[in-house]
Amino acid sequence: MIQRAYKYRLYPDQAQAEYFNKCFGCARFIWNKMLEDKQNYYDTYHKNLYVTPAKYKNDFPFLKEADSLALANVQLDLNGAFRAFFEKRTGRPKYKSKKRSRASYTTNNQNGTVAVTDRSIRLPKIGYVRAVIHREIPEGSKIKSATVSRTVSGKYYCSVLCEIPADKKAPLIIVENTKVLGLDYSSGHFYVDSQGSTADEPHWLRVQERKLRRAQRKLSRMIEANISCYTGRRVPVYKRPLEECRNIQKQRKKIAVIHERISNQRDNWCHQESRKIANSCDAVVLEDIDLKGLAGALRLGKATNDNGFGQFRRYLEYKMEEQGKYVIVVDRFFPSSQICSVCGCKEPTVKDLKVRRWVCPQCGTEHDRDINAAVNLRNEGIRVLYTNKIQVI
Ligand SMILES: [Zn+2]
Repeated sequence: MIQRAYKYRLYPDQAQAEYFNKCFGCARFIWNKMLEDKQNYYDTYHKNLYVTPAKYKNDFPFLKEADSLALANVQLDLNGAFRAFFEKRTGRPKYKSKKRSRASYTTNNQNGTVAVTDRSIRLPKIGYVRAVIHREIPEGSKIKSATVSRTVSGKYYCSVLCEIPADKKAPLIIVENTKVLGLDYSSGHFYVDSQGSTADEPHWLRVQERKLRRAQRKLSRMIEANISCYTGRRVPVYKRPLEECRNIQKQRKKIAVIHERISNQRDNWCHQESRKIANSCDAVVLEDIDLKGLAGALRLGKATNDNGFGQFRRYLEYKMEEQGKYVIVVDRFFPSSQICSVCGCKEPTVKDLKVRRWVCPQCGTEHDRDINAAVNLRNEGIRVLYTNKIQVI
């Protein structure tokens, strides 16, 4: 079984939007209530408390108006969060905030209660909601669940999770040697490939970021003007509570909308770049880089954190898989940048990230650090294909 989600824009009417907002609120409310009870129980008895949403419905009758499956899914999510906490994989589960948390709820398909038609999506309890079905759900697939969400700019989306039977999977292709591409993640460029071409994030993303910085500056000046003094612990005392300052709230929303726009643009660009590669190559070789580790080391922080290479990689992976093509992830410890791609000798002094160009001491070839690394990844990828008995011509 392959699982795939398809996200559609919803155009609910006023009553439907109200219903969605109610469900978002109830999902958040029940999460916080159950979390509070479980946490108190854990603090006194050091044991997990079993709770269900049904228990709260008498005390808080408005919960009955929401989709009951949405509440059941919150229970599952919360249990998962606690399991992760007990197994020490994460910290304590956190409360959800009306202002900061993503407004969403997830419901399940029970014998067609969730369905995608030509121009609408059917959801439990409210029926058909107008939607733009920009892409059809593959034939023979089964709808598992649907997640409705609202963005900060007030748009509604529905992500439909489907299960596609494994026999619908594209057959694996025969790889052409010339269509194997090595991609080296580069902090200066987005990536450098084994043919020497680079991809840079388009400059209009920078333009948006300038806009964002300006808006943030404006907000901080507005807040500054509303502060009467700082107390000893540098906690500001506001002349008026921030919730009442409508212009500050408006500015906050503006910033949230710019953030949303930037992330949409980046998302779109990642899709286009990965589509180009997925259509023109048979196999792509990437390094399994630890993006978190890389951002911590050196001063590459910002450039690495926000340029969405991980996102790009996920998009590339599923686009390749759809066509029966290969994505080969090379081990993190493969010394891609230290090997000479011409003669194969190892030159450890090049490990230093500051070395951009170097000359091989054995064969005398002058290398660009990133291109050389990409070529090495490509060679390693072809080797991996051979050892896995995958035909390369
Ligand atoms: Zn060499």
